[in-house]
Amino acid sequence: MAGQAQIVDRLRELARNLWWTWQPNVINLFRDLDPELWRSTDHNPVEFLKKIPTELIERRAVDLALHSRVDYAFRRLHDYLKNDDSWGATHAASLRCRPVAYFSMEFGLHESLPIYSGGLGVLAGDHLKSASDLGIPLIGIGVLWDEGYFRQSLNTDGWQQETYLEADEDLLPIEAVRLANGKLLVVSIESHVGTLKARVWRVEVGRTTLLLLDANVPENSESDRKLTSRLYGGDAKVRIRQELLLGVGGVKALQALDIHPSVIHMNEGHSAFAGLEMIRAEMEAEAIPFAEAVRDVAAMTVFTTHTPVAAGHDRFPAPMVEEHLGKIREALHLSYDDFMGLGRVYPSDTNELFCMTVLALKLSRHANGVSALHGAVSRRMWHPLYPNRTEEEVPIGHITNGVHALTWLAPPMRELYDRHLGLDWPERIRDPRTWRAIETVEDAELWETQQVLKARLIDFVRRRLAVQCERRKDGDEAMKRAGTVLDLNVLTIGFARRFATYKRANLVLRDAELLSDMINSTDKPIQLVFAGKAHPEDQYGKELIQNIIKKARVPRFSHRIVFVEDYDMNVARHLVQGVDVWLNNPRRPQEASGTSGEKVFLNGGLNFSILDGWWAEAYDGANGFAIGFGQTHSSPSVQDDRDYSALLTTLREQVVPLFYDRDATGLPRKWIARQKAAMKTLGWRFNADRMVMDYVMNSYLPAALGLSCSMPK
Ligand SMILES: *Cc1c(COP(=O)(O)O)cnc(C)c1O
Repeated sequence: MAGQAQIVDRLRELARNLWWTWQPNVINLFRDLDPELWRSTDHNPVEFLKKIPTELIERRAVDLALHSRVDYAFRRLHDYLKNDDSWGATHAASLRCRPVAYFSMEFGLHESLPIYSGGLGVLAGDHLKSASDLGIPLIGIGVLWDEGYFRQSLNTDGWQQETYLEADEDLLPIEAVRLANGKLLVVSIESHVGTLKARVWRVEVGRTTLLLLDANVPENSESDRKLTSRLYGGDAKVRIRQELLLGVGGVKALQALDIHPSVIHMNEGHSAFAGLEMIRAEMEAEAIPFAEAVRDVAAMTVFTTHTPVAAGHDRFPAPMVEEHLGKIREALHLSYDDFMGLGRVYPSDTNELFCMTVLALKLSRHANGVSALHGAVSRRMWHPLYPNRTEEEVPIGHITNGVHALTWLAPPMRELYDRHLGLDWPERIRDPRTWRAIETVEDAELWETQQVLKARLIDFVRRRLAVQCERRKDGDEAMKRAGTVLDLNVLTIGFARRFATYKRANLVLRDAELLSDMINSTDKPIQLVFAGKAHPEDQYGKELIQNIIKKARVPRFSHRIVFVEDYDMNVARHLVQGVDVWLNNPRRPQEASGTSGEKVFLNGGLNFSILDGWWAEAYDGANGFAIGFGQTHSSPSVQDDRDYSALLTTLREQVVPLFYDRDATGLPRKWIARQKAAMKTLGWRFNADRMVMDYVMNSYLPAALGLSCSMPK
């Protein structure tokens, strides 16, 4: 019996470190114990272990060889945690006693910890995972959103409905942070409109720690307790308080824990107030004036901007800023006007709102966009901030986003890589030579593996559609259709992302007749899988979804156009792993990077995309498909017309014919050649290990320069 107790303890320990999210062996362990329960608990092992009866674990132990599998997983976790033979140990040793503090409003680590809304969060989650794998001393700072982002369902009219579920803290892989004296850590943020308090939670992500601030404490007013309920939920006033919490509260949490970062990384402008609190503390500790403290803090601060879309940059009226930052302003010995100038392109223009991106740029000496094109677009966009420089000299560089390969790679494809690239390929992921071995994979083996993934996707879609139909009481006819939609042999195109206007989700559906011809072609048909949420306030985005639903209900489309509700990391994983083609048609140059396409090629899918974001620097003519030539037009409607026509041309003249060009054995040899070319040319570049290494070399080490371990804090 002692052995049983130990198994349960060890499973609990595995569940408490999100390392499991990129370990198929551990995921299989949980799933094999009770597949139904695993699914119904949203793949949340903490909840799963609370709900599974101990007798069941005991009963299954023998069947599943549980002892040895748990022991093995447990040993691997511990080896991983104590391994100090990492890339970071060699290249980032100087960060060891003074880590990087990485601030982000959202973190997408797994669907069971719903504190993310989309790409920004998933990127931050992948950043933490790669920092862990590489052994980079880095600590994340974010917010515990107890209702997360909304859950999406569609009503009978195809109109998006939002529901918010309150998380149960006992069922999350989080632990309350306590001080050395055993007391709960609570940070206080003073402002002219009262004191805001927050407690702090800790999440372990492999070797990396993530601290999450939570305003739901009894000391706060009722309205402040709700401040950390919903991600991107409130008005400007709620937003500025959330940003105060993240930036100032985050720095205070670090101070309380005696953590003295050598680098502050602000992932997006949301956390720019962190710089002000750092400056305040520096002025106090060193008894130096503002100008000197700004120089010191800016030197150690890295800022990543994520969008050229104007609405993506938070702006607040000066009185609201004064209400919340007035106390800090006084501590900085700045006048009202000088302080407001920190958030303005033209400091003395009192009509200008206080912009978080402007503040972040002024408080950092290391700024970057998230792709080569976005770097250039950002330099043009923020040129007015640097009137004495040419556009090329604007100090904003770029580090292109990447994805955490082991999180997004389907286990069967990972096994194929293990067989052909060598078992240690993840450690050599950023070396082009690692990926050359893809050439040695038999065409049939790659194709078969991808067919398995595609079959899983179809299975997943049918199951989800059945659940959707049942909830809506759509009737027997719809139910029957749900069980038979999509065909394994048909070219499958995926499109899943936020329904932001510039992403143009319905571009491909523009001409119903042409679409019908392509979908119902007797020899070369296509099918489409959609998913994605519209922001609750975005009526136009909701109309786009409704449009797709209307199409998906027309009999000539209904077997081959589907919409999977409630896009999250779980839906994303199935889609990026199972499609043949990933469609991406943003209005260039508004997609700063995009990352979902990077998850796709890893799994054998091909990108079919406008030359925007990462694809503008990734496409080489043979590793996927391009829509257009990277043109833009001052009139959006002209640009849309041109892009639609280019989309059709590429689809009809390249994508479809290549997919259906089969040899005597039924293999599309030229298609497979493209899949291999994609893996070979993109695999080593567009992953989060390469991205984090770039941050270390280009930003973190220069920012940390001079702040060595021996320096007094
Ligand atoms: C990867 C991912 C994204 C980002 O996709 P884009 O290509 O940047 O639009 C958004 N949401 C989820 C759930 C993801 O997994």
